Amino acid sequence: MKILVVEDELKIADYLRRGLTEQGCSVDLAHNGIDGQHLALEIDYDVIVLDQMLPGLDGLAVLQSLRAVKDTPVIMLTARDRVEDRVKGLRAGADDYLVKPFSFLELLARLHVLTRRGRKHEATQIRVGDLVIDLLARKAFREDSRIDLTAKEFALLTVLARHQGEIMSKTAIAEMVWDINFDTNANVVEVAIKRLRAKIDAPFQSGLLHTVRGMGYVLEERPAR
Ligand code: CA
Repeated sequence: MKILVVEDELKIADYLRRGLTEQGCSVDLAHNGIDGQHLALEIDYDVIVLDQMLPGLDGLAVLQSLRAVKDTPVIMLTARDRVEDRVKGLRAGADDYLVKPFSFLELLARLHVLTRRGRKHEATQIRVGDLVIDLLARKAFREDSRIDLTAKEFALLTVLARHQGEIMSKTAIAEMVWDINFDTNANVVEVAIKRLRAKIDAPFQSGLLHTVRGMGYVLEERPAR
């Protein structure tokens, strides 16, 4: 899941980035409304966490300019629980609201609801051959045995599985799994693919994660030779 966090309080921004990254999300941070607006318009996020009080351009203005062109789900953060603030935000097109201080678990639960709404038709499980990825439980299985994956490995596997049968370039993978501040070093993708392959393929009869020379990687079941 690709998330933009627009928050000027550095402590909160950092706390959110760490927490969401641990969940396997790819997180971009903006510390003011202008940078936030720029990223929100340029990049397609699965969800945006947007603080209402921001330097440069406030959260409502960012939301209004976003809503003129896109319907990316937005959850607004506000310091005050005032009905009129909430109404303003919802009128401007916010999908949800959280009042500070909030619990990280509550934010996470709401983010899940919002992104599920966006992906109404997505199943909670993806299958590739005998590999089963449970998106809600965030677990992967092959031949009924649980595969122990790190958050990043799980995110990488999910991206490949959502595009199963399609060749994914290293750049596309880097962009979807790592955030934009990540130095797009193809080697990092290579290393991650190697680790993932050691877990999802090596212990089993058949390989699912294939290298397409000069092009990238594809996750698919291929008939036994
Ligand atoms: Ca603020």
